Amino acid sequence: MAATILDGNKIASDIRAEVAAEVKHLAAAGRRPGLAVVLAGNNPASEIYVRGKTKSCEEVGIYSEKHTPSASATTEELLDLVEDLNRRDEIDGILVQLPLPPQVDAKKVLMAVDPAKDVDGFHPMNVGFLSTQRPGLVPCTPAGIIEILERSGIAIAGQEAVVVGRSDIVGKPVAMLLLNANATVTVCHSKTRDLPGVCRRADILVAAIGRAGMISREFVKPGATVIDVGMNKITERAEFDKFFKGNAKREQAFATKGSTLIGDVHPEVSEVAGALTPVPGGVGPLTIAMLMVNTVRAMKMRRGAEIPALSKA
Ligand code: NAP
Repeated sequence: MAATILDGNKIASDIRAEVAAEVKHLAAAGRRPGLAVVLAGNNPASEIYVRGKTKSCEEVGIYSEKHTPSASATTEELLDLVEDLNRRDEIDGILVQLPLPPQVDAKKVLMAVDPAKDVDGFHPMNVGFLSTQRPGLVPCTPAGIIEILERSGIAIAGQEAVVVGRSDIVGKPVAMLLLNANATVTVCHSKTRDLPGVCRRADILVAAIGRAGMISREFVKPGATVIDVGMNKITERAEFDKFFKGNAKREQAFATKGSTLIGDVHPEVSEVAGALTPVPGGVGPLTIAMLMVNTVRAMKMRRGAEIPALSKA
């Protein structure tokens, strides 16, 4: 039987609607949340991501502002900007878009963000809060993965979860969230022995690798839930044919755009898995939706008692 497709667009849209209702309520009480995005240099992909983030803010009613230091900005200039945003009370969230220009000490800049405004959840203080199960700000993509599972009625507690990838942005935080939700978690990486065998133990398999279609059917236990975090662009005809030959919809998109997106999971896995997130339209849309959630959360955590109660966020 073909896997159930977990529709990330629908889940993200539900979350945005919930955030919009909450922001409306907060704004009516004179407390509109605010997000500052720092986009240094002119990386085309970063520009697209930032456009998506500011557009989403507009949709849900969050105040947003964009800061665009030049490609030659120094670490000190960025630190000054972050310090200024840290001080401004109407700014609840600060997002420093990565990658930063090569001459900038990115770790130093990220460390300078006030942990209470760290809507990316990358600051070591928030990493510590997550691992010790204290309230804090959780990285957006991993938080989105948990939303997909929970809102799709997929049980986590007691399940075997295998995460392939151990990055600070996806692999480690999603493993910690799954552990906090009482899954039995294994984290794999490039040195893991018998990766297909380890993955086949998974009731929930999360692929966060960055390798087109690497997770093929022999990695997947029949009926497992597979979460595909990967976003890989295919531009070569031979590679396209390897994954999508005969897929009319993909053919058309490839012919028009000259490229198509594929995750870390091979399309054939849809014949084995019980449920699967598509690429595009799976985990991706959740990342920005959770940024909106985090901005509201940051504001509520910073202002605490000043805010009239409405929801659990
Ligand atoms: P990353 O920092 O490059 O980490 C990749 C991880 O995969 C590493 O831990 C690496 O192991 C592991 N790996 C690489 N090759 C492997 C192999 N052959 N076997 C087993 N493990 C292997 O990547 P990332 O930032 O976590 O991103 C992963 C993917 O998710 C990328 O495609 C990225 O574009 C995508 N992504 C999507 C979203 C979204 O919103 N949908 C957000 C973030 C990232 P080692 O540690 O041993 O090197």
